[in-house]
Amino acid sequence: SQHNPSATWTQYTKALEHQTRETVNLTTKLRRALETDQLELHYQPQVDLVSGGIVSAEALLRWNHPQVGFIAPDQFIPLAEQSQLIGPIGDWVLRQACRDLRAWRDGGLPVTPVSINLSLIEFQLGSIPDKIRHALAEFDLPPGMLTLEITESVFEQHSQALRQDLETLSAMGVRLSLDDFGTGYSSLGHLNDYFFDEIKIDKSFIFQLDEGPYSQAIVKAVAVIAAALGADVVAEGLELVSQVATVRQLGCTKGQGYHFSRPVTESCWRQLLIDQNAF
Ligand code: C2E
Ligand code: CA
Ligand code: CA
Ligand code: CA
Repeated sequence: SQHNPSATWTQYTKALEHQTRETVNLTTKLRRALETDQLELHYQPQVDLVSGGIVSAEALLRWNHPQVGFIAPDQFIPLAEQSQLIGPIGDWVLRQACRDLRAWRDGGLPVTPVSINLSLIEFQLGSIPDKIRHALAEFDLPPGMLTLEITESVFEQHSQALRQDLETLSAMGVRLSLDDFGTGYSSLGHLNDYFFDEIKIDKSFIFQLDEGPYSQAIVKAVAVIAAALGADVVAEGLELVSQVATVRQLGCTKGQGYHFSRPVTESCWRQLLIDQNAF
């Protein structure tokens, strides 16, 4: 009944080899996807909870694979981060969002600011403020049209360079949003150490709103803190009309979620802008 250690080892290395080959394979495909325009930005509205109007859009990346169809970012962003392909992908996201903003403005649409997501690795690769400055200049956009969503995980590596970057970006007039608030370590500490224009309460709190008093108390406390800091507070993951009513009553200023709209293609987004105040 004793297993043969060397056989186990062989199996293990075979599995590892297979896994590595798959990863290399997928990385190659992702690189090709970037080069052949298979990446797309979809847009999801953020709604003013008082007026019901669309006040901004979050740009969410999709891989439109010719055979598979749309692939969600959770399935390829981690890989892109491991392979440093996140650098060129992030550059593409930034320029595409700015290109779309420029096109909407030129088309006379009632344009709102756009939020893009940035991961820690992108900051570590460097020169984010320069890239943002160049993209805004290239597409002739005011910095207030761009919001950078940064998850709390960014601060797991507390670095002076990151602090410098965020201060530079804030001074430039780009808006900063703290994403997935409440899921990381020391959430409140980040608010004390950095300046944010907006706090996004993680959808896990929203999903639990109906299950007891705790989530409501947390959402309310975050809204109070945000108000004291002069920051917007966004509730994400709003799927039900009851959740919308609750977060509005608890003091959230903006809402985002399937209740209002799923993320939509750029052409659908134009239509949403034209049909403003649809919510
Ligand atoms: P996130 O930044 O927290 O984005 C919100 C996610 O929640 C999106 O998933 C969105 O489609 C989804 N969502 C919105 N409303 C609802 C709702 O009512 N219910 C539920 N269940 N989900 C909702 P998505 O598009 O799959 O993106 C997943 C994550 O991938 C994002 O989480 C973000 O961390 C990352 N990501 C997306 N685009 C980019 C990008 O361009 N760059 C980087 N670095 N990361 C990105
Ligand atoms: Ca986000
Ligand atoms: Ca989020
Ligand atoms: Ca997230």
